[in-house]
Amino acid sequence: MGSVVKVSGPLIVAEGMADSRMFDVVEVGTFGLIGEIIELRGDKASIQVYEETAGVGPGDAVISTGAPLSVSLAPGLMSGIYDGIQRPLVKLLEQSGSRITRGVKVSPLDLDVKWAFVATATFGDKLQAGDELGFVQENELIKHKILLPYGVSGTVKKIASGDFTITETIAEIETESGIKPVIMLQKCPVRKGRPYKQKLAPAAPMVTGQRVIDTFFPIARGGAAAIPGPFGSGKTVVQHQLAKWAEADIIVYIGCGERGNEMTDVLNEFPELKDPKSGEPLMKRTVLIANTSDMPVAAREASIYTGITIAEYFRDMGYNVAVMADSSSRWAEALREMSGRLEEMPGEEGYPAYLSSRLAEFYERAGVVKVIGSGDTEGSITAIGAVSPPGGDLSEPVSQATLRIVKVFWGLSSSLAYKRHFPAIDWLVSYSLYSEKLANWFDTNAAADFSSLAAKAMSILQEEAGLAEIVRLVGADALGAKDKITMDTARMLREDYLHQNAFDDIDTYTPLDKQYRMLKLILSYYDSAIYACITLNVVPEDIMKMSVKENIARAKLIPTSDTAQFDAIESELKRQISNIIG
Ligand code: ADP
Repeated sequence: MGSVVKVSGPLIVAEGMADSRMFDVVEVGTFGLIGEIIELRGDKASIQVYEETAGVGPGDAVISTGAPLSVSLAPGLMSGIYDGIQRPLVKLLEQSGSRITRGVKVSPLDLDVKWAFVATATFGDKLQAGDELGFVQENELIKHKILLPYGVSGTVKKIASGDFTITETIAEIETESGIKPVIMLQKCPVRKGRPYKQKLAPAAPMVTGQRVIDTFFPIARGGAAAIPGPFGSGKTVVQHQLAKWAEADIIVYIGCGERGNEMTDVLNEFPELKDPKSGEPLMKRTVLIANTSDMPVAAREASIYTGITIAEYFRDMGYNVAVMADSSSRWAEALREMSGRLEEMPGEEGYPAYLSSRLAEFYERAGVVKVIGSGDTEGSITAIGAVSPPGGDLSEPVSQATLRIVKVFWGLSSSLAYKRHFPAIDWLVSYSLYSEKLANWFDTNAAADFSSLAAKAMSILQEEAGLAEIVRLVGADALGAKDKITMDTARMLREDYLHQNAFDDIDTYTPLDKQYRMLKLILSYYDSAIYACITLNVVPEDIMKMSVKENIARAKLIPTSDTAQFDAIESELKRQISNIIG
């Protein structure tokens, strides 16, 4: 047991701590405030405390629990709303009202509820850590697999289906060191990634049904993306769309330290979202970690580790998990504040020199892996981090460090949002370093020329940006026939393809085959227009006023399964073109 010698906001220095270890969790003072040792020098420990430290003073007792900061993992996690150290916010609210009493200890998971455990392993099975013992159908959407915890392997001596709480023994395993009872609840340290057998190269996209993302800036399943969020640029809508539609079984949303009321929005809005595939509340496959900036900074610092560890737990069951961190800038500010209080040498803009390695450690926990256990199960974590640079200036350290790590950048632009171009992802600044790698996948699984069509559409959009300058200087009439067609097609690409209304029942989600048909229509228009104008000297204006363009514009509202309507527009396009060229 040690005692406090100094208090500096969320940082406490205690002496007499020689027998504790780095990252041990401690309890401080009479309230038993939770803290974590982040520096040890001799018998002095620097402790970041996850609760308000007012009233703690020199001489107060500090007791090490001897265990690192951990999360509780078991059925009951789904729909959970937690703070950065996995305290259940709803239960805290019930217990202590809106001002959370310091030092309250509430179990993250309900210890009394009995879950119907269905055993899939049987007596005599020889199992390794990570092998399935059985499952609990946690809700309509999630089958919560119960795996043999890390470090345990042996022969099943006892197992049966039945109703159990998460701390009751569901199986007994004969290990080399004797019989070991197994319960559903696992505690897992958050600072270190959970083990896996092998990391695999991301090879397939995480399809989102959002055209600008899938077609032009796809994210690989197991990949990492960054999205800046200038105010009012539609960041929330993009995040909701991803949570609803992205091909992920489970969503872990880490809200770290946005302004209090913004987090309240998340807490109000997320529970209202519906899972489009099942019609059930999206929360049934979501875990929310919420830290507003008025909660202590240290808890904010911990929140992304808490979140990603929960994600890894579900990954290990073979699920595809999407983790959204919003925003990593606020998280980095928490890191900066702690570093300042530790009197560490500041780096750029006061951030600690280890900012980029910490960020990398987080994003590196994303990926597709072969999970532990005797099978060949694969699971994945796809990480999407929002950055909110002050003044939208991406040259600041957090944005720069993030962009060096992630392979996808969806650049939300407030000027596009101002023009009501939604989603306001700027196609001229965004990129995906997975595009090339995934091209093959799209060509095999969506359509043989998917990636080449996408590349062609992008080059038309880029050409438009160059031509726009000329138009500004000398007017549109000065353009040649080809350039006029290019400008016209680019406008169609922007308005008929990139615009996607999140609030329209059909437009909100576009599967890949429909994305292909839509893109193909616009580019067929482009090809035939160029042919007519360049080879046959048709006046571009005659082509540009064809009425079939209306049908192309409305193609986004065609129900996915109605391919006949696409066929009809294609023939109509051919008919109108041949009428003009005679
Ligand atoms: P932010 O979170 O960046 O402040 P929001 O996501 O709340 O911005 O978006 C602001 C407004 O922009 C929304 O209320 C909505 O009207 C509009 N909007 C954003 N994205 C879309 C979209 N994909 N489709 C239609 N409207 C959108």
